[in-house]
Parts: sequence; structure tokens; C-alpha cells
Amino acid sequence: MQFKDFVMSDTTMNPLSTWVEVPKNSDFTIYNLPFGVFKNKRLSPRIGIAIGDKIVDLSVLDQEGFFSDMFLPEGIFLNEALNELISLGKTQTKKIRERVQELLLADNEKLRDHSIRGKVMVNRKEAEMLLPVKIGDYTDFYSSKEHATNVGKMFRDPENALLPNWKHLPVGYHGRASSIIPSGVPIIRPKGQFKDPDMDVPGFGPSRRLDFELELAFITGKPTKLGDSISTEEAEDYIFGFVLFNDWSARDIQAWEYVPLGPFLGKSFASSISPWVVTLEALEHFRTAGPKQEPEVLPYLQCTSNHSFDLQLEAYIQPENVKQATKVCTSNFKYMYWNVAQQLAHHTVNGCNINVGDMMASGTISGPTEDSFGSMLELSWKGTKPVKLDSGEERKFIEDGDTVIMKGFAEKDGIRVGFGEVRASVLPAK
Ligand code: MN
Repeated sequence: MQFKDFVMSDTTMNPLSTWVEVPKNSDFTIYNLPFGVFKNKRLSPRIGIAIGDKIVDLSVLDQEGFFSDMFLPEGIFLNEALNELISLGKTQTKKIRERVQELLLADNEKLRDHSIRGKVMVNRKEAEMLLPVKIGDYTDFYSSKEHATNVGKMFRDPENALLPNWKHLPVGYHGRASSIIPSGVPIIRPKGQFKDPDMDVPGFGPSRRLDFELELAFITGKPTKLGDSISTEEAEDYIFGFVLFNDWSARDIQAWEYVPLGPFLGKSFASSISPWVVTLEALEHFRTAGPKQEPEVLPYLQCTSNHSFDLQLEAYIQPENVKQATKVCTSNFKYMYWNVAQQLAHHTVNGCNINVGDMMASGTISGPTEDSFGSMLELSWKGTKPVKLDSGEERKFIEDGDTVIMKGFAEKDGIRVGFGEVRASVLPAK
């Protein structure tokens, strides 16, 4: 049975089963099959698909002729990034993913009983995950109404928290691609200028208000020409998949520098992403309506179908020398006011071109309740309400030695598709 057939018809569901042992509550089920780039002690960087605690080494499958009918470019899977593979187009990448799914089905003996099986299935534990794509450009949106409202209340006017443009266009800024790092790489506390309200002149030093931002980012899979625009209708053709995104932020640096041109050094020091790219196809089953948009948006931002997904997003803090991480936030991708199709339509409406491997992050995704706020700024309400950790410690912002972990998954009708996690520890300033 094809994956497509399964997800398209909710009423005739036959659960898929695989011969791979997939632990209960694994994000990497037979329905997910995300793409990533890995290496280990023996193997040079290459492209794989995750299932359970294993990685399917696509380069070995290719060498053994499992994709021979697809006429793929030679060595396509022996790559340090997914860009070339993604550039083949969705028709091809979908076929590759569906072929792998077929091979992993319980009653398919082609790989299961093949002598090459041991070489194809690599232990995820022993693999080092690399940045999945070579990121050309990175854009960060500001698309959660709850987040924008919270920030507006704290820093501007509680009565008019949203700026006049907010409900008319997906606000965004161009970020820094060079400092996007894969999960596991520690970040160094940034230094910079800050000027608190009680200071006469700006100070300089390590940021005292280091924060995370709980976000999801999509990776573009198809280029446009300069001058061309993407409609909301076409937008999903240009989206390859999604990763978890921690948009590290230094709130004190940000507050002093951001007027009038927006975020700069308070953001550009690092962003962490999860290494497995979950395809748009894998999320199909979790598609849902987004919040109602009032007032009506301009025609180029209007949508005729749903572009939101019901994905639970979580953030955890684990202090140094503490065994357990404390969950500090549970949010959901579906809270986002502006959807991915609108973000891409808006981004290109002026003729700005996009390339394969561009990364577009959602902006902090906060929900309506206090435990669903996607940043420490909001959770601790600008440092006025410390967040209690299970260890008894409190946090207003992120301290040296802390590890921040983000998780994301969708679950419905017994089907689970998730992102695994993105984690990074904070090292003291240099
Ligand atoms: Mn952000």
C-alpha cells in the first residue's frame, strides 16, 4: 500500500506496520520517514531517512539498485546537504520516500531478507547529525498573535499591543544564515550593548537576558526567478519540509538595538535546528484550519484551503548537573495566525526570489494560556515572574550551563509523526 493512499482516506485506515523495531512513542514512525544528513566513525557524510532508532542509509540502497528505475544522478545520496536531492523536485523526493516506506513494510522481504540489510540500517545513536541543508537565506516571521500581543503589552502599550500593520501582513525580518547550527552544538553567550531604562549610558558585556524562541521553520524546495511571486495556492509546492527552530535571542541587546531597523545582533549569534527534515507529505494527516483572520486580508494573502497543522511544540530547560529537564512550555503550531502559504506569498509578492534551501521560521509560537508561551520573556513576564524548575531552581532567563530542549510531534488516530528534538547548552561568554 502506498503512503499517499493511506493518508488521503481517513475512513479506510489500515495501520501500516514495519519490520523495523520502532519504540513506542517514537517520532520516527513508518508514517514519518524524515530526511537528514549524517556521518559516523566509519561513514562519510551521507543522506539517510530515520525510522525508530535506525537510519536508512540511502546511498547503500542506491548502490544496490533499489532506486535504479528512478535514474537518479550518481552519488546523489553521498552529499553533505540535502540541497541537490531536494532540487530534483517533489515528484522525485516523494517517490524516494515512498520507495523506502514500501521496503520497510512488514511483509516486504526485498530489504528485510536481503544480505545488505545490516549495511543499510545504521544505528541512530552512533550517528552524528549534520546541518541538513546548506542554508542560503534565512527569514524569521512574527506570526503568532499571542506572542506579538504579549511583547506589545510588555514593551509598548497594553491597550494597543499589536501594531497597526500586524493583522494586514505577516511581519518578518531577514536573519543570519551563517550562524544556524544543528542540534547538540553548544552556543556561546553573546556579548553586546544594552541600555536598561535605569541606565544613563549604554553598558557592554555578556547578555543578561538570554532567551529561547520556540519556532518551526520550513525549508524551500524549489527556486523562483527574480521578479516572480508565489501565490498562496502554489505555496506548498515550494515547501519541502520542516524542522524545529530555536531562535536564540538576547533580550537586553535586542531591546536597545532594534529601533528603527529591527532585530540584529540580539538574534544573529545563533539559531539551533533539529536535524531531521519532516516532509510536508508526512504532515498531511494533521492538517487543520488556522485562526480566523479578522479583518479580511488582501486578496494576495487569501487562502482557499487549510495550511495549518496540529503539531504540539514543547520547550524544556535542564540546568547543569541536573538529571531531569523541566517542561516549561506546551504550545501548538496551529495557533499561528499567519500560515506558511501566506508567509511565502508575502515574502515573494515584491518579486524577491527564493532558492532551494532557504529557511523561513515561524516566529515564536505562543498559545493563549500562560503555560503555552514560547519564550522566557513571556513565561517570566519580562523577568517579573520567575519560572520554577523541578530541581527547585528558578529561571527568569537562560543561565550558563543550562540546556534548552525543544520537541515537536503530531498524534492522531494512533499515527505519530514528530521531529525528535533540538537541544543546545549555553556556554559562558568568551
Ligand atoms: Mn524569532
